[in-house]
Amino acid sequence: MAEPAKTIPKPLPEITPVTRPFWDATAQGELIMQRCKDCGSWVWCPRPACVECGGEKLEWTQLSGRGQVFAFTVIREVVGRALRGFASDIPYVTAWVDLEEGPRICSNIVGCPIDQVTIGMSVEVVFEEAAQGIFLPKFRPR
Ligand SMILES: [Zn+2]
Repeated sequence: MAEPAKTIPKPLPEITPVTRPFWDATAQGELIMQRCKDCGSWVWCPRPACVECGGEKLEWTQLSGRGQVFAFTVIREVVGRALRGFASDIPYVTAWVDLEEGPRICSNIVGCPIDQVTIGMSVEVVFEEAAQGIFLPKFRPR
């Protein structure tokens, strides 16, 4: 008798003391990012020190959640076991979004047909609950 196919869930973000403020904010419908108080650089993903100057005075800063698509790709196939959890989403769009305040963030474009996504498209953040209490920032046309 064949074994039933194993369900492989989507990976979820690991919430650590360093990343917790970010995930607490997304659960409140807010997008925040660390900014270095020494050199002014945006720091992404969340980490203990600035990637530009090594400074440890990082400040969580509110973002508008508005931006433009810098680049994107359409995912049409899941390759490899680790990503099988995304199979039900195919096809979907993964994009780099340039936020109004300057930093660039990688996420998904949702809320429109994939063939309507364009480079330069204006987008705004939305928060999707991926698991109990874990809200992922994604972007939709605005
Ligand atoms: Zn710095």
